[in-house]
Amino acid sequence: MSSKYIFVTGGVCSSLGKGISSSSIGALLEACGFRIAMTKVDPYINVDAGTMSPYQHGEVFVTDDGAETDLDLGNYERFTTSQLTKRNSITTGQVYNEVISRERRGDYLGRCVQVIPHITDEIRRRIKDVAKDADITIIEIGGTVGDIESVPFLEAARQFITDVGKDNVIFVHLTLVPQIHAADEFKTKPTQHSVQKLREIGIQPDILLCRLEGHMPLAMKKKISLFTNVEEDAIIEATTVKSIYEVPTIYDSKGMTDVLLRKLRIPIESVHKDLSIWQNLRDKINSLDKTAKIAVVGKYIELQDAYKSIYEALNHAGIANGAKLEVHKIQSDNITAENVDETLKDMDGILIPGGFGDRGVEGKIITAQYAREHKIPFFGICLGMQIMVIEYARNVLGLDRANSTEFDASTDSPVISLLEEQAGIDNKGGTMRLGSYDSVTKEGTLLRKAYGTQIISERHRHRYEFNNDYRQQFIDKGLIIAGVYEEEDLVESVEWPGHPFGIGVQFHPEFKSKPFSPHPIFRDFIAAALGNS
Ligand code: GLN
Repeated sequence: MSSKYIFVTGGVCSSLGKGISSSSIGALLEACGFRIAMTKVDPYINVDAGTMSPYQHGEVFVTDDGAETDLDLGNYERFTTSQLTKRNSITTGQVYNEVISRERRGDYLGRCVQVIPHITDEIRRRIKDVAKDADITIIEIGGTVGDIESVPFLEAARQFITDVGKDNVIFVHLTLVPQIHAADEFKTKPTQHSVQKLREIGIQPDILLCRLEGHMPLAMKKKISLFTNVEEDAIIEATTVKSIYEVPTIYDSKGMTDVLLRKLRIPIESVHKDLSIWQNLRDKINSLDKTAKIAVVGKYIELQDAYKSIYEALNHAGIANGAKLEVHKIQSDNITAENVDETLKDMDGILIPGGFGDRGVEGKIITAQYAREHKIPFFGICLGMQIMVIEYARNVLGLDRANSTEFDASTDSPVISLLEEQAGIDNKGGTMRLGSYDSVTKEGTLLRKAYGTQIISERHRHRYEFNNDYRQQFIDKGLIIAGVYEEEDLVESVEWPGHPFGIGVQFHPEFKSKPFSPHPIFRDFIAAALGNS
């Protein structure tokens, strides 16, 4: 059977949770036994998300094969078992790049190259490529209907109707139903308008997901149905919930699974639905009876999405340990030797996430020193591990000016330095050490204990690395080298000696944590924090 397609679009405004909705649709269809594929379409001109600042874009999610993508791919991986690669993230930049290179090669010789059909053909080719091995493919179109950039993608989506047949493609549209408090009324007009916008380009939504605070009165459903031609039972209220992991079961209880199957022309009797993993997860979330205070010390703490996968991985580890986490987001710029005690003394665990550039680095070094000396469970990720190394060099090895050459190119003790393979690279896009590499874990370390295996595989995104010229000095002073990428002898993980839990990793474990299978290092970090609380 060739794939059926579900396009998910958004109306009215951004940030309504299209990624969670798409992921939940994927989860529901997997719970019905279907093989699904998920892909994100981002209408921006950037080839990928790798060169965008967290202020523009939030977290950059990295796949096993080293794609730097939108954070929604992280949601797809957390909610479903679909395997994501470079192919699962499609941008305007990639599509135009491809078409323009073909034109230069002469593939279109004699013809005028146009948005329709050449750009839309390339979009459809990419979507079908993702759909090859799936029963159902879910395509989330980023942005909001009405954006100029998304027009070719919506046009390509529309073309699927005649291409694969209406029985094989459906459209789910997520909109906002705002409440005007002064009038104490919900307003359906923005939803009407955004559906009109879709219909102008020939797309009639099959299902409307309406975000609102509270419940949708029947009269309102009838009104939306009348104006949009969407059947009443295909208008699903999407109320704000406590945990994103409740969304699949809530959607199911509102009839979403049945409507999806009906619209996809799949007989409901032919399907065995099993949502027990989601029900169990919801029960676990509702019965967390311990708490731990975890500080995340970074420089983008005011942004909800900059450390998205880290917050989710902490959440998963909390659930696994039966604990609700109180996550304190602390701005590293503000930490000084004078205020560090006041800021961190009540914390049960401290995490320093990845990052680039020198802002806030000194505050992070002070934080690492405080966690080491006060034996507070500590977890450093990527830049966080580099910070651990710099701090240890300064305060244990006595190399006062130790630094990373990223922050001080002329330091006399470059304990973190540019990866050899990075020398001479000028282009910023897609040129870091990216994607999965194996590490060999050392026996007796926290790292080995967490994974229980000698070889581990994790995703990377960095240019700088532990400088092996200092390796022996560190070992002589007790720092434990817990994991190594043997092919190039790169240090992938360090641990503090004589400390209850102090670990740093050069890779990004947060990308592989799932609510049902928390990442082992996060799990052990939270267990240590609970022991500390
Ligand atoms: N800036 C550091 C490097 O490039 C760390 C990167 C990161 O934390 N992802 O090596």
